[in-house]
Amino acid sequence: MKIGVLALQGAFREHRLMIESCGTEAVEVRKPASLDQVQGLIIPGGESTTIGKLMCDFGLDQAILQRAEAGMPIFGTCAGLIMLAKTVRGSNQFSLGLMDIEVERNAFGRQVDSFEFDLPVPVLGYKPFRAVFIRAPWIEKAAPNVGILAQYNEKIVFVRQGNFLASSFHPELTGDNRIHRYFLNMVKEAVN
Ligand code: GLN
Repeated sequence: MKIGVLALQGAFREHRLMIESCGTEAVEVRKPASLDQVQGLIIPGGESTTIGKLMCDFGLDQAILQRAEAGMPIFGTCAGLIMLAKTVRGSNQFSLGLMDIEVERNAFGRQVDSFEFDLPVPVLGYKPFRAVFIRAPWIEKAAPNVGILAQYNEKIVFVRQGNFLASSFHPELTGDNRIHRYFLNMVKEAVN
């Protein structure tokens, strides 16, 4: 099993290292052909308008959508979450539109730019997850078919819808690989 990490811009290296720390091979994806080698994909944080533009320039938008339709699990973090959303508030930027969520970019920005928090995430067990938020979006609305995995101050920050997983925060920037292992389990289930 190999996991692709979209490597156009942003924190892709950290995701690759995290996947490798779980004992799984990671492939940096920059062109559609690389997707043929992988069974799951991570879309990292960074700048969502840039990632979206490059994705379209390289034909990765259509390639990712085709694989998503065929059941490939995708995990988006921060800007990656924005890329998965059906609606980005107040913006006409490109997104893949795979998850029935409406996101607000830079939503925590007016309060604090970046912060860390011990976030309770029940699906990971009792121990909270140290969540790093960097100019993070939050999920303003989620359709009833979207599972809410964590909230911070009543704002939705971690969700799953079928084979798609998305977090507002950056799980690749901590030493805790539980969320990456959770995603790897989704990929194992999809492959079997
Ligand atoms: N603010 C960024 C955006 O809207 C996301 C920040 C991040 O990925 N850390 O694209």
